[in-house]
Amino acid sequence: MRLYYDPFDKIRNGEKTIELRLNDEKRRKIRVGDTICFHRYEREYDVIICTVTDLYRFNSFEELYRALPLKQCGYTEEQEKDAKAEDMLEHYSLAEQRKYGVLGIGIRKSDQDYLTDCHMHLEYGDLSREYVMEFVDEAVKKGIHEIDILDHTHRFKEFEPCYEHLKIYDQQKQWLMQPTKFHNTLDEYIGLIDEMKRLDLPIKVKFGLEVCYTRDTEEMLKKILSGYQFDFLTGAVHSINSILYDMSFSKELLWDKYPADQIYRDYYEAVLNCVKSGLFTRLAHPDTIKMFKIYPDYDLSETYHLLGRALKQQDMLAEINTGCRYRYGHPDIGLSDELLAVFKEEDVQLITGSDAHKPADVGSFIKEATQRIK
Ligand SMILES: [Zn+2]
Ligand SMILES: [Zn+2]
Repeated sequence: MRLYYDPFDKIRNGEKTIELRLNDEKRRKIRVGDTICFHRYEREYDVIICTVTDLYRFNSFEELYRALPLKQCGYTEEQEKDAKAEDMLEHYSLAEQRKYGVLGIGIRKSDQDYLTDCHMHLEYGDLSREYVMEFVDEAVKKGIHEIDILDHTHRFKEFEPCYEHLKIYDQQKQWLMQPTKFHNTLDEYIGLIDEMKRLDLPIKVKFGLEVCYTRDTEEMLKKILSGYQFDFLTGAVHSINSILYDMSFSKELLWDKYPADQIYRDYYEAVLNCVKSGLFTRLAHPDTIKMFKIYPDYDLSETYHLLGRALKQQDMLAEINTGCRYRYGHPDIGLSDELLAVFKEEDVQLITGSDAHKPADVGSFIKEATQRIK
């Protein structure tokens, strides 16, 4: 269920213990002992998990307001004097109340964290319901409440022209010829998404794309993406001046050839362009450039603040992507302490993801990453 900041905050600090709703078909399925996740409007990953303790059913809010303690329904002591059932007309009409009746849901806040794994790939498997279910089952097993699946754009035929610029190096040309590249169409992916959305899944599952962004391919990407609707789009920078920075051959092509300062400057310029492009709702692994533990000599704090402000301005989420920890052996669980602190200071919305490329990796270090957001 979604809530505005004020009631959300009151539940969080324990003042509000009864949520008021229509007793419609969906709410009639609620039972005492059920878990309800309250998501904050415009901050959907700000979530409080509650247990249902009581269910109070009435014919109207008029009746409910006479029977229940209004302070527990979300009024302050000050507001309680003027509280009236008509206040609920803002949300539900009298006709709706007559049709369904109304419901007070008694809730107890749980200390449990809402765990999200927002980044996993079907890359090494089929676009099939069975394969998606392997990811879902693993998430359920690990107590993850929500997963987001996003395949790379290099899985799909439509995006092949956007990778042409990488073919200047043989190693990259070979990489693009792998059988996992450009072998499906976006319509096939959309077909799978439609199929999955019709199922009653045990956890929330969203679908999007991890889009390899470069300034030169921005217009091409925009054109292709405009024809499709996804739950989210994650922008990612994987190459700098047409050289991939995260491959085994990247040492030879990039890191051994150019100074780290230049690589970092070019990387963050590309990341900033990615954010400012307006094409994406999320930014993938913002400081993944550190994966080989090669660092620049200059101070990055100004760049981090610029990036934080740009993310905030575009209303984009930034990932704490734990892939750098278990896939590349970097000590950070996602963002560096410094970048994380700057993002918090700039009020950037954060989201945790494992970058799992196989079901067994779903949820890796997500609990630890969630702790870091607090
Ligand atoms: Zn990536
Ligand atoms: Zn990824």
